[in-house]
Amino acid sequence: MDEKTKQLIEKANKLTIDNFGKKTWFGRCIFLSWYCEVGTCKFCYRSTQKNRIQHASHAKRSLASMIVEALLAKNLGWHIEFLTGGYGIYPLEELVSITKIVSEVTDQKLWLNLGALKPDELKAFKPYVKGIVASIETIEPKLHDKICPNKPIEPYEQMFEAATDFKKSMTMVIGLGEKKEDFELLEAFIKKHKLERITFYALKPVPNTPYVEGPTTDDYAWWIAKTRLSFPLIQIIAGTTARRVSEVSTILKAGANAITKFPATKQFASQNAKILEEQIKKAGREFSGTLTKMPKIDWQKQIKELNIDNELKTEVKKTLKLYLDRMLP
Ligand code: SF4
Repeated sequence: MDEKTKQLIEKANKLTIDNFGKKTWFGRCIFLSWYCEVGTCKFCYRSTQKNRIQHASHAKRSLASMIVEALLAKNLGWHIEFLTGGYGIYPLEELVSITKIVSEVTDQKLWLNLGALKPDELKAFKPYVKGIVASIETIEPKLHDKICPNKPIEPYEQMFEAATDFKKSMTMVIGLGEKKEDFELLEAFIKKHKLERITFYALKPVPNTPYVEGPTTDDYAWWIAKTRLSFPLIQIIAGTTARRVSEVSTILKAGANAITKFPATKQFASQNAKILEEQIKKAGREFSGTLTKMPKIDWQKQIKELNIDNELKTEVKKTLKLYLDRMLP
């Protein structure tokens, strides 16, 4: 790592601990479907799958599996990063109903990342949602138009302007071709929309897309550290994958408050999950949940107490068993 980046990270680490303390957490994203109506962002897995998914309804998640993920998150100390993945697939009423249920299961208001929502849609979600997320992906306009030709930034900006009583957040993927000078654009965007949170991801190259490698740890950490130094109080969430877990201590020191995107149920208690927890310790942070040890939980009691009908409870029991069988050795 070059000396300048090292110094940035040291400053960002001090600022983060001074302002937030040592606590860190894992944020689990809950997907509503595997289908995306846009489907053309150049780096995205879905852009390689769109033609194979003839019927969007086949890509829907079952409500039971979303409830199971919410239950697991609650009991393992994970936050819900956001609900996402429903572009053009569910009617609004169903989206609101799912959001309500996940919010009730987790006893918290949620972040939503469901595209550029209109004012009447925002109103319908309001009782269960604290904030909205814009998947900006990359901030430089020309690069953005090239990479996300059918997902313009402007409707997200309109959503932010309408969403006066919601917290606001954005996502950005590092490694798509952005330049360090684009940081000024990011800084201006965060200020303009008074964002309280940002989620960074390191590009995960997907076969059959133009990308073959992700960013270096230094580049990824640079963007996080620059953001932390410009915005001492913004919440920064940083994605990691099973392959990138050994850089987690660096991205926490660079100013991330929490980690997301790690496939926590598939990799629960795995070697990678252990490395991730060790990396958190190495960064001098305290992890508020677990990715490695299943606590003793009376699942039947928890399912019984859920505010859902009995048929759905039976489905949740079955689905939970499938998850637990996979997660426990
Ligand atoms: S990045 Fe998001 S909007 Fe673009 S194709 Fe992938 S899922 Fe769809």
